[in-house]
Amino acid sequence: MPHILIIEDEAAIADTLVFALRQEGHTTHWTTLAGEGLRYLDTTPADFVILDVGLPDLSGFEALKRLRRRSDVPVLFLTARGEEVDRIVGLELGADDYVVKPFSPREVATRVRGILKRAARPAAFAPPSAPEFAVDRARASIHWQGQSLTLTPSEFHVLACLVSQPGRIFTREQLLAVTGGPALDGYERNVDSHIKTLRAKLRQVDATREPIRTHRGFGYAYDPAI
Ligand code: CA
Repeated sequence: MPHILIIEDEAAIADTLVFALRQEGHTTHWTTLAGEGLRYLDTTPADFVILDVGLPDLSGFEALKRLRRRSDVPVLFLTARGEEVDRIVGLELGADDYVVKPFSPREVATRVRGILKRAARPAAFAPPSAPEFAVDRARASIHWQGQSLTLTPSEFHVLACLVSQPGRIFTREQLLAVTGGPALDGYERNVDSHIKTLRAKLRQVDATREPIRTHRGFGYAYDPAI
């Protein structure tokens, strides 16, 4: 039974999360301060951490930095709408996902389930010798589920970037940069068209899956659980 630490200073939000997560069969522990949460983890292992960005003692970003020095437990950020999201996406902080307030507690529970499944998968099912995506940079080729994909150079760079960090959201600007495209307004749309043609090529290999996930307004991520 996964144990989940919630670090959130608003009791009303924490309450709804505790309720939704317990319904999923998780056990939970709630702290209102980052320092308290980090101390709790010193003595009690957690399988998952839900971390508010705006906390009274430390920012969630700082808390995650400290947490990452000693643990790679999956972390989901709770953030207020606004510039914080850019920081989450832009900085390589090592969070697994984030949700923007206000959110539905069930949506959070679903994300938690997906991330836990993803975290469990590599050890349980995928030996490192047979990754889902095999990227051969020297030959600029990518295999998916053992089948070679025929890609343009831009599609190759976009897909290689996405699968290099499963679950991480890359902005259009970041993906544009890996294709070597000009960082000008308007060119981000080229990334959308690369994603579209990539999805069509992936569908030819396996029409039941859609491993490139759109995060509306933020960018794209490779989600091995889909
Ligand atoms: Ca807060």
